[in-house]
Amino acid sequence: MYYKENSLIYLDGDWLKANEATTSPFGQTLHYGNGVFEGIRSYKTRNGAQVFKAKEHFERLHYSAKSMHIPFPWKVEELVRLSYELLERNELEEAYLRPLVWLGANMKLEPTDEVHLFLAAWEWPRYLGEQLLSVMTSSYQRPNPRSCHVDAKVTGHYTNSILATTEAKAKGFDEALLFDSNGHVAEGSGANFFLEKDGMLYTPPQGNILPGITRHTIMELAKVVGFPVREMHFGEEWLLEADSAFFTGTAAEVAGIGSINNIALKMNWEDSIGHTLAAMYRQQVMDNEYKHFTLV
Ligand code: PMP
Repeated sequence: MYYKENSLIYLDGDWLKANEATTSPFGQTLHYGNGVFEGIRSYKTRNGAQVFKAKEHFERLHYSAKSMHIPFPWKVEELVRLSYELLERNELEEAYLRPLVWLGANMKLEPTDEVHLFLAAWEWPRYLGEQLLSVMTSSYQRPNPRSCHVDAKVTGHYTNSILATTEAKAKGFDEALLFDSNGHVAEGSGANFFLEKDGMLYTPPQGNILPGITRHTIMELAKVVGFPVREMHFGEEWLLEADSAFFTGTAAEVAGIGSINNIALKMNWEDSIGHTLAAMYRQQVMDNEYKHFTLV
């Protein structure tokens, strides 16, 4: 459940009980999927609740809105402040925060000026769980970047993700891995993909993916300890040659993959670069600073 009896949400300037919040059924977002959102995590650190890369997430929310011609009358700093207030009002420290910007009544396929802001937070375990994942390559492709802004976090794009995970779960897998419209590996339904091969990490470049904030963090952490990472297109054949692989995302954090299409990856997860980076990521989010970093 995403809220309890006394949970509070932020809605257009007011703090409301989550179970009393309402919205109009005529909104453009509801009908056509033209809205933007974020997924953010806060961690219980020794300095209290810290929202990891809050500014970067709200900057991406702004970017997503701009790319969809959605007005964005909020300042990033104000949104960061509201996030901390949201946590405080709900007495949450380890939480997932969900900002959503959605549009008012407009049945035309045109921009609309009426814009709403919703913020909620709840306790959410790691999205893909703690176990090594059994992944299938999806029959669904990621949306073509010439048909929409794939680097924006737009509500409607997630119909593609829902189709892919529904297919994967129906076939007994944990998660889907999607190709782009050129047949290259792109990403998971809601997480970026990394592959380890001969001591190098590879990840698909920007263009057909949502360039994740976790992906960026992982690339920076890899640099700190000298693991080479190459952003590069690769096809399905590389999946067979991979030593190890993992997904990255705010909700999933760093999620190790055990097998792809029922073929086990060669290396033990505990021996992989991904495993080391997962521990570093944990330390990073708990410190919220690179300078405290020590290798674990
Ligand atoms: N790809 C997609 C499609 C996603 O929905 C997400 C989650 N926002 C990611 C990648 C990972 O992004 P981030 O690390 O910023 O959460």
